Amino acid sequence: MSVYIDPKDLIIGPNTNQSSAIYVREQQGKYQIIRRNIAFFLMSLFVILPWVSIDGKQSILLDVASQQMHFFGTTLFPQDFPIVAGFIMVAAFGLFFLTTWLGRVWCGFLCPQTHWLFIFIWLEEKIEGTRNQRIKLDKQPWSVNKATKKTFKHLSWGLVSFLTGTTFISYFIPPSQLYVDLVFLSWSGLITFWVLFFAVCTYGNAGWLREKMCLHMCPYARFQSAMFDHDTLMVAYDSERGESRGPRKRKDNPKTLGLGDCVDCNLCVEVCPTGIDIRHGLQYECINCGACADACDQTMSKFNYPQGLISFTSEARLAGGLTKLLRPKIIGYGIISVIIVASMAIYWNARVPVELTVLRDRNVLYRINNNDFIENSYQLKLLNKSPQAKSYQVQIDGIKNADNSLNEAVLVQSGELASVIVTVTADPYDLKRSVLPIELKIIDSETEQELIVYESKFFSE
Ligand code: SF4
Ligand code: SF4
Repeated sequence: MSVYIDPKDLIIGPNTNQSSAIYVREQQGKYQIIRRNIAFFLMSLFVILPWVSIDGKQSILLDVASQQMHFFGTTLFPQDFPIVAGFIMVAAFGLFFLTTWLGRVWCGFLCPQTHWLFIFIWLEEKIEGTRNQRIKLDKQPWSVNKATKKTFKHLSWGLVSFLTGTTFISYFIPPSQLYVDLVFLSWSGLITFWVLFFAVCTYGNAGWLREKMCLHMCPYARFQSAMFDHDTLMVAYDSERGESRGPRKRKDNPKTLGLGDCVDCNLCVEVCPTGIDIRHGLQYECINCGACADACDQTMSKFNYPQGLISFTSEARLAGGLTKLLRPKIIGYGIISVIIVASMAIYWNARVPVELTVLRDRNVLYRINNNDFIENSYQLKLLNKSPQAKSYQVQIDGIKNADNSLNEAVLVQSGELASVIVTVTADPYDLKRSVLPIELKIIDSETEQELIVYESKFFSE
């Protein structure tokens, strides 16, 4: 097996064979079944997750107003940024790992742009008809029939876009509130703006920009070839088997006609969402969706030829060798991902579920009360970062017989910030120096576990 590869095609573009309008033919086949099942699963998650509650909280909610992020029963605060940064890094290295191993599988099977694009193409096909009918319709002068079809198509795209915008915003505002407010037309200007913003982005991307988004705007398309090696899987045409291409009758023997297996049916081009001809070699426009492989397998079956003239393969396999799974890049990306996950786990285990800020009374360092005892006041701000309400006790250490004004435990709801004043009173005879170190300890009332020790000073002069 061999393939016609012009390495320059991986970095230059766009493909000159591309016409300005791409009419994508709907294709069936094993890769399309995989892609549709993945799309169905991911879309279902996208729609359902905001409605799922864990411990009384939305499974994923980015509460911008209170600067909290609820994530499957855990509440993250701005102080937990290392965890969020870790997630982003793991996602990035996971993507590098996947790209080195399976090529642009993200683009073809996982990217939201691709899934929405195929939904929009599906709606277009259902309303305006097959590829040939759509080409004919666009060439026709405007008529009632054409206007009706175009109107319904854009209405259906608009509806999907609006639902996408609303669903996306339900990750920021609980959906029960969002949809009730929608029914009563009582969305604020800000909510209306953001829903419409994301709806317009969806409509523009999947309806109009389509493959241009992948070809000209997505940065990932530009740098992913840096992750490829000879064993990376990609969709490729076996030119040695396919050439020379040409039409023939099913019963014809291609060898006697001097032809290869490619019957030049052009189906691989017609089904391509980016409008390229994979027979010209590897091109950066290819998103590895496998539609051309499915189309070609269909043609091969009709002619009783073996399948796989276009297939997911690697340069190594095309050169007659075997595809290696364990390679330095894959091992490297895997090790880095494991290190980041381990660091996140260590950080999470060491994470204290309460945040304490202490502010001293800046106006008066100390006061002398009616009993001639010395008083120092501290303002404590306690942020409960655990998923349940918690009671905390404040204990003072460091000064003999010091009295703490806060005798009762402080109840703080999950995710809330409580502010309390603690006044520490000491007998001057027990104070050896004018400034003494003291410790403010936060104790979990239920478990009596010491959560935080804050070191401060007690002034008496
Ligand atoms: S060339 Fe094939 S795999 Fe690549 S984008 Fe086009 S149809 Fe998808
Ligand atoms: S689908 Fe297969 S047979 Fe048809 S033109 Fe493409 S490569 Fe040739």
